[in-house]
Amino acid sequence: MIVAIDGTTGSGKSTISKQLAQKIGFAYIRTGSFYRAIALKILRKKIDYNNLNRIQDLLNNTIIKNDFIDNHVRIYLDNQDVSSEINSPDVSNFVSKVSSIHIVREYVRRLQQNSAKTCKNIVMEGRDIGSVVFPNAEVKIYIDCNIDVRAKRRVSQYKQNGINISLNDAKKAIQERDYDDMHRKESPLIKLPDAFYLDTSKYDINQCVDIIIDQIKNAK
Ligand code: C5P
Repeated sequence: MIVAIDGTTGSGKSTISKQLAQKIGFAYIRTGSFYRAIALKILRKKIDYNNLNRIQDLLNNTIIKNDFIDNHVRIYLDNQDVSSEINSPDVSNFVSKVSSIHIVREYVRRLQQNSAKTCKNIVMEGRDIGSVVFPNAEVKIYIDCNIDVRAKRRVSQYKQNGINISLNDAKKAIQERDYDDMHRKESPLIKLPDAFYLDTSKYDINQCVDIIIDQIKNAK
């Protein structure tokens, strides 16, 4: 079974998806981390993201791996663990530019579909999982949350990693990324009519996980 979870930036998608996968014994793939790893490599190599030849060359020489063991997700870029680095503000502010590039989306789509071939049951989380990657997913969830709650969470997440950012800057960055993700030409983030809408401002993480488990039970 594929559980497709899409939604807005900072809405709690990753935390909920990870806990859900752990609780029901499914594999978990955070597809945003694939786009983040590519964005990190482009930043490191100081490549202009409009230079498609160089981006193609970079993709041809990139290996991204994803591990989910004991409730910990690890992302490897060319065999280097980049799990923390991909969540830096620099990568977060740049990733939407990278994810709107067609050849990058094709590359990530192959990675996503290959991952699903090796797992029978999977929670896959991103922006276009229910719409494009797995339109036939048995369960589709759209996760959203009030912008002020999301900005507060983002400030405290960064603080835990020793990064200080103002509430206003966090809010602006989240809104900009949502705008880019919802308005890009290819596979924009959309609320599908067949997706269950979950507003995480109203519930804690355990409640959100249980609500999705009910949806999975209904689908079976
Ligand atoms: O989920 P996360 O915030 O880590 O995603 C980072 C970015 O990757 C998103 O803002 C979006 O631009 C891109 N993304 C995407 N399609 C997905 C997953 C993520 O375009 N399926």
